Amino acid sequence: MNLLPWQTTQWQQLVSRRRQGKLPHAVLLSGPEGLGKRQFAEQFAESLLCHDNDENGGACGKCRGCLLLKAGSHPDFKRIEPEEAGKAIKVDQVRALSSFTVLSAQFDHGYKVVLIGPAENMNRASANSLLKTLEEPADNTILILLTSAPQRLLATIRSRCQRLNFIAPDYATATQWLNTQSVTNPQQWLEIADGAPLAALDLFNHDDESIESRYGSGLETLEALQSRRKDPISIAAEWQKKDSLRTVKWLTNWVMDIIRLAQGGQANSISCPSQQSRLTNLAKQLDIGGLHAYLPHLYEATRLLGTTQVNQQLLLEEILIRWAALPKNRL
Ligand SMILES: [Zn+2]
Repeated sequence: MNLLPWQTTQWQQLVSRRRQGKLPHAVLLSGPEGLGKRQFAEQFAESLLCHDNDENGGACGKCRGCLLLKAGSHPDFKRIEPEEAGKAIKVDQVRALSSFTVLSAQFDHGYKVVLIGPAENMNRASANSLLKTLEEPADNTILILLTSAPQRLLATIRSRCQRLNFIAPDYATATQWLNTQSVTNPQQWLEIADGAPLAALDLFNHDDESIESRYGSGLETLEALQSRRKDPISIAAEWQKKDSLRTVKWLTNWVMDIIRLAQGGQANSISCPSQQSRLTNLAKQLDIGGLHAYLPHLYEATRLLGTTQVNQQLLLEEILIRWAALPKNRL
């Protein structure tokens, strides 16, 4: 078994429920991208279909169930995902589930396992179809749903699933793990990836060479805006060329760090230690009340950028204009 260090609690919870014979019919694995939820789900599916679990509840990798699953031909396992990345999960895909679940498992006393994700990619019709399956659960069938946006699922789906939350690990655990993956400068990659270790690893391995410099120069740009050496319109035009959402998340983390530092927080309490000296300077200059009032605008921008088609240029201009107008401390 190859469990990530920040997933052991969630694993033990499922294993102990299984041993008590109290596994729910549906589990919702919920949490930000880049924490390894899918990897966890795959391992849990393997463990349910294995006939010879180890003492930690993991799969043996050698029995008939394990081999069939590895070969992609296990009759009691089904995967439902968008046919193309980013597209919707279609209603026909979910409807096929009902014929799968009514059949009894091919192996005696075995489970049937369905992995659905990203669950928020179900459209209205697919979600309603899944709801029917959830309302009449079949014996020994476990549905594992994955989501990074639980608020976009029907409330009735959420309420019929046992929810298991995944949160970003603490800084020490994450950097230690990134070290084992041979990531150089893990601290900065973790900051760039908003604290998600697998996302940090992925960016490190597949960087388009610009994200590191964009992150590194971000606060400098914001200082230039404060001192009127740059204007919001040209910065917004720059930002919207590349992953606006990520840039707004960086800005949010920096603002939260500035607030922490202004309140006397130490360097080890901030989430972006590589930017400490610039953040400390800003903490001296900016009024803390103004920063608190600024945060809700950043949350709203994050929400809009993550869920809908918006005019990114206008949205970024608006938060940059607000940044430039933040009240200053009298020095
Ligand atoms: Zn096995």
